[in-house]
Amino acid sequence: MISQGVTITTRCEACGGVLILDTGQHIGGGRLWWGTEGACQSCPVAWCDQDFGDATPEEIRQALLAEHGPARLRLTAPEASAVPVLRALREVHGLSLARARAMANVLKATGLVGTFVEVELVASRLRHHSVGVTVETSFGSRRL
Ligand SMILES: [Zn+2]
Repeated sequence: MISQGVTITTRCEACGGVLILDTGQHIGGGRLWWGTEGACQSCPVAWCDQDFGDATPEEIRQALLAEHGPARLRLTAPEASAVPVLRALREVHGLSLARARAMANVLKATGLVGTFVEVELVASRLRHHSVGVTVETSFGSRRL
């Protein structure tokens, strides 16, 4: 499974004890999921929060980017037809054609940057349409 997470230690608002947060993103059923599980080490405070869609809370994205660094998606053949690229981008994000074009231009020119899971979600759609892509991360580049 494609997933990335980070563990954050913070202070419990209820008792002042040590609160451990496990937060992250993963891909399930072709969707991007984000979630946070929190548990206090000293009192019964605990919760689990999970949802899917494009709007991962910014604090989760920032925690992942800080811990693991950003990933960059590039086309292996930027000069190839843009048609399958546009189709894939519109499927992933439900974009208008104009916004998909703008995104495709960024992808062609510099690559798309995001968290590893966000980039992998777009990459899997592009591969589905036989578009060659690479995902570069701080922990290595994968050519698929
Ligand atoms: Zn507590």
